Amino acid sequence: MTDSSPSAVQLTEGGAVLMNGNRLRDEIVAELAIEIERLGSPAVCLATVLVGDDKPSRLYVKSKHKKAQQAGMLSRHVELGADATQAEVETVVGELADDPSVHGILVQLPLPDGLDPEPVLDLVPPEKDVDGLTERSMGRLVRGKPGLVPCTPLGVMRLLERYGIETAGKTAVVIGRSTLVGLPQVLLLGRKGVDATVTLAHSRTADLVETCRNADIIVAAAGIAKLIGAEHVKPGATVIDVGVSRTGDGIQGDVDFDAVQAIAGAITPMPGGTGPMTIACLLQNTLTAARLQGLVED
Ligand code: NAD
Repeated sequence: MTDSSPSAVQLTEGGAVLMNGNRLRDEIVAELAIEIERLGSPAVCLATVLVGDDKPSRLYVKSKHKKAQQAGMLSRHVELGADATQAEVETVVGELADDPSVHGILVQLPLPDGLDPEPVLDLVPPEKDVDGLTERSMGRLVRGKPGLVPCTPLGVMRLLERYGIETAGKTAVVIGRSTLVGLPQVLLLGRKGVDATVTLAHSRTADLVETCRNADIIVAAAGIAKLIGAEHVKPGATVIDVGVSRTGDGIQGDVDFDAVQAIAGAITPMPGGTGPMTIACLLQNTLTAARLQGLVED
């Protein structure tokens, strides 16, 4: 790892540390490639399921496969049309669940309207649940047991770790309460050993500026472009942008980067921050999943 060495640290114009998710992802993929080569066969295999023709979902899946291959993993892709029935999607996921050559299963969300993701996700066995979204994986996270953890909040934790951001005894605000990002993020930041004091903000939070402006760490996952401005941020705070909005000006994060970088101590770019880290953690989870299935030695 080179990120924590001062020479490798990039600063924004305003002097904040730029938490470069692309670079960290590439480092993690390179580390995984070495580890997987050392492990030899049987090959670690990630399977993805894409239903419908949502363009961003297709791009996300494509980059997951590209990076899986760079890490030396096998990857398998199953695609169903937007008119697929609930039963057809469940059959595909059930077959992957039963296939011993598949170690990780990722069902790309959202599913098209009319399909219920929950019964589909619950067909993924916990030891193959590389997205960490099933009830059993969530339950293990709540209970503090080892298991597979949702990739985006895990990617945020890796950014904090690798950029040496102190969490113990610090205050954190997580904006957004979804099971995909916000809720697991709260649990991870508040875990024993991480030890942040965490506030969960959401769409009914009365005063978001007041809630955020004393926080040492802000994780924004609301999906509202430029929701977080300089007025939300304490000087020197760490600001991590998870939100993605597609606007007329291209992809925007939840954070007004230009305004906030002038006041923050560390900040993620969008794109190039949490997105690539989600993929890095998916691949780390896939190797963990293979180990949980006893297919490769620890
Ligand atoms: P979601 O729609 O399920 O949840 C959004 C949350 O934001 C809700 O809990 C809501 O209460 C909260 N919220 C909405 N308006 C708010 C406001 N004005 N103030 C405070 N909170 C508010 O979305 P999600 O699946 O959690 O995703 C959140 C965002 O993160 C989306 O933009 C999504 O595209 C993005 N995302 C990014 C990555 C990544 O890798 N960077 C991964 C997953 C999701």
